[in-house]
Amino acid sequence: MTQGAVGSDAHTKGASAMSATAENTFDIVILGGGSGGYACALRAAELGLSVALVEKGKLGGTCLHLGCIPTKALLHAAEVADTAREGEQFGVKTTFESVDMSGVNAYKDGVVGRLYKGLQGLVKSKSIEYVEGEGRLVAKNTVEVAGRQLVGKNVVLATGSYAKSLPGLDIGGRIMTSEQALFLDYVPSRVVVLGGGVIGVEFASVFKSFGSEVTIVEALPRLVAAEDEAISKQLERSFRKRKINFKTGVKFSGATQTGDGVQVSLESGETIEADLLLVAVGRGPVTAGLGYEEAGVTVDRGFVLANERCQTNVEGIYAVGDIVPGLQLAHRGFAQGIFVAEHIAGLNPPVIDEMGIPRVTYCEPEIASIGYTEAQAKEKFGEIETYDYNLGGNGKSQILGTAGFVKLVRQKDGPVVGVHMIGSRMGEQVGEAQLIYNWEALPSDVAQLIHAHPTQNEALGEAHLALAGKPLHAHA
Ligand SMILES: Cc1cc2nc3c(=O)[nH]c(=O)nc-3n(C[C@H](O)[C@H](O)[C@H](O)COP(=O)(O)OP(=O)(O)OC[C@H]3O[C@@H](n4cnc5c(N)ncnc54)[C@H](O)[C@@H]3O)c2cc1C
Repeated sequence: MTQGAVGSDAHTKGASAMSATAENTFDIVILGGGSGGYACALRAAELGLSVALVEKGKLGGTCLHLGCIPTKALLHAAEVADTAREGEQFGVKTTFESVDMSGVNAYKDGVVGRLYKGLQGLVKSKSIEYVEGEGRLVAKNTVEVAGRQLVGKNVVLATGSYAKSLPGLDIGGRIMTSEQALFLDYVPSRVVVLGGGVIGVEFASVFKSFGSEVTIVEALPRLVAAEDEAISKQLERSFRKRKINFKTGVKFSGATQTGDGVQVSLESGETIEADLLLVAVGRGPVTAGLGYEEAGVTVDRGFVLANERCQTNVEGIYAVGDIVPGLQLAHRGFAQGIFVAEHIAGLNPPVIDEMGIPRVTYCEPEIASIGYTEAQAKEKFGEIETYDYNLGGNGKSQILGTAGFVKLVRQKDGPVVGVHMIGSRMGEQVGEAQLIYNWEALPSDVAQLIHAHPTQNEALGEAHLALAGKPLHAHA
């Protein structure tokens, strides 16, 4: 479909559309060029739809510039620091000298810069109208950017999320969120991380490896509370071993900045002195003041409500990514963006199973999971079976010197409905785990597949062998 061809058809409803010209009229107008928005634009263009993609900041959004990519570069630098420290353990004489943040940042920014260039090239190479500037929904089918009205037969809201704080806790100076922490030009001696969720534990892991003394403060009873309880326990064990301090079930009550530090107070009456307080208490949706509610879109506590087809309550308006309640993950945004493009193109794509979205936390040790935790599975399916395969029996994990496990949850006599893994590098195993969950595999289906030796991937195979009743290198 060409832009001109659609310019004359049905999407001429609403006052704003009256002024629409062919060059301002599209099959899809997308507000926000992050993971959800740009994936939708690329797929729609591939399918021959005319697309306008509106972005006020940098194409690629949070994931590329302030999220997934820069944090994983820091985590890799952290791993290199640990490797330098631990050489002796493998008979290699290395010493750890220091972390040069200008070098770390140059490396991290180089990675981001190359990917950014590539993404810009990709968008340019497709027939996508890329519109720079802050957009606002001014009618059901119209986004306005700097006085230009872009009319869409369909509109996709993809404005993403921002780092939240707590009431009375102002961000500034030594109190920062991940957005500022990504650009630190020094390694702080003492850090308090407020929040023991994914972003909190990843930063705690980086700071510790870089040489900071770290304390995590988490109000919930355990770190990474969304994960299976056994995973939290193992992470806490590993963090204790790494001398990462954490306080769970403790509420923050305030923070005061002093000349050279910050004093963090807890409801227990305890205070912690630090150079820096990292606030990692979750991310809120970027939806305020963008005209969504005025256009009739239902918004709940700032989040845009959408059904399993990413449709809002207003016909022709879709929402994808972090503004939609659910997992705030880049690959969920990609999948939803692609889904919407295919849905609009009439391909009738299968709906996305939120439980079938893989989840990885990239701290050391890494956590990877998919599907239901043991507790969720019990509630949903009633009778279940679980099996924990200890990485102690896995050759490659022994070679790497990592501890952890693969935990499987299955419906009694039924398919595997949850895979939970922890250990160095275990994030890479989530690929097979997601096939197992999404293809509703029985343990015996996986047990007959051959897993290469010696890999950490074997641990997944061994866990399924054991659950299928034919354990190999398993003690229990
Ligand atoms: C520190 C950190 C680490 C993370 N690590 C991971 C990870 O390892 N793996 C993972 O899967 N996810 C990770 N995430 C989450 C991931 O970044 C998000 O889930 C993902 O970016 C969401 O995509 P999105 O398109 O919904 O929003 P965003 O990426 O936030 O994009 C929204 C875009 O909309 C633009 N925008 C907003 N309002 C307007 C407007 N009015 N006009 C024009 N443009 C507008 C913004 O500038 C932005 O570019 C991480 C996030 C953070 C903060």
